[in-house]
Amino acid sequence: MASMRALQKKAPGPGLELCEVEIPQIRPDQVLVKIEMAAICGTDLHIYNWDTWSANRVSPPVTIGHEFAGRIVEVGENVTGLAEGTLVTAEGHFTCGRCYYCRTGQGHICDDVKILGVDVDGIFAEYAAIDAENIWPLPDGFDPAIGAVHDPLGNAVHSAYVHGLTGKNVIVTGCGPIGLFCIALARQAGARAVFASDMNEYRIELAKQLGADHVINGGSEDLETVVKPATGIGADVLLEMSGSSQALASGLRSLRKGGAASLLGIFSSNVSIDLDAVIFNQLTLYGINGRRMFDTWFQMQAALEAGLDITPVITHRFKFEEYDEAMALMNSGRCGKVLLVP
Ligand code: NAD
Ligand code: ZN
Repeated sequence: MASMRALQKKAPGPGLELCEVEIPQIRPDQVLVKIEMAAICGTDLHIYNWDTWSANRVSPPVTIGHEFAGRIVEVGENVTGLAEGTLVTAEGHFTCGRCYYCRTGQGHICDDVKILGVDVDGIFAEYAAIDAENIWPLPDGFDPAIGAVHDPLGNAVHSAYVHGLTGKNVIVTGCGPIGLFCIALARQAGARAVFASDMNEYRIELAKQLGADHVINGGSEDLETVVKPATGIGADVLLEMSGSSQALASGLRSLRKGGAASLLGIFSSNVSIDLDAVIFNQLTLYGINGRRMFDTWFQMQAALEAGLDITPVITHRFKFEEYDEAMALMNSGRCGKVLLVP
């Protein structure tokens, strides 16, 4: 049996190991993909650091990673419509297809979801076996680096498009990769003004580069004092991409009456919000869980075809064997999206 290199969580505890493992054998409904580019997600960093979430959720040994672009090198016998040689990425949430949500077109909130690189072996490897129905083919000559960030870009598209941004005053709290994608999407959609906040100077600079009009340091400045004077009544839309209760509170205070918020950022503990303000200002709070399958993917494809430029968000590339360095950089926050090249 031929072998390959894979970045695995071999046992509970911090760190990863670059291992020699067997190339996965595909099921009849899967394809084998040779990975050309991988991207590191916050989830991978949690698993690397082995925080409480990971300790409760992940069962080693497992190959981690779910953001990738690669080429199909083998097609399962029951798979139609996919060919060897095609550049692809994939939706990393495998749905059951049988639960209430799957059967009503809401597979993104499936009751029995399995996650690539968490519940099943992922893509920080030379090859990965992927369910054909999750494969998203990319056009010929497509940049694998952009292909590799479709999953987080999809989170931004889902969050941004649910309210519509054209002509709107938009706030983005948290300028990690997903917040930065939101800024680019808001600009492309023709937002009237884009307000952004982060605490990290590196990311504040990236937010400006992506076209945010007003970027504040959420640690020392209050969004409301910038947004209210610039808009007269407050912003139309808040895209909460930080997972910070303080950013959420200041974002909600900066919305106009009738405003709407997409909540994507994940909070490490319970958060209290001013529900009276939600009620009397008639705010809409919309939770975002991953990408709609596959509405979000078609919207993302359209945005990219129309010229969405997210290249400034991708700031670093490392070789597979430099994973410790890549994870240390991610922990420092002095980066946008970080890629791993097998
Ligand atoms: P990230 O951690 O790289 O970015 C979060 C950013 O928020 C950081 O730059 C941080 O400096 C900033 N921040 C922290 N406190 C702040 C404050 N008080 N004010 C302003 N900014 C502040 O994360 P990411 O990969 O861009 O993802 C964004 C969020 O979405 C994370 O919380 C992540 O866990 C979550 N997420 C949710 C889903 C989902 O399906 N709901 C999917 C993927 C990621
Ligand atoms: Zn389901």
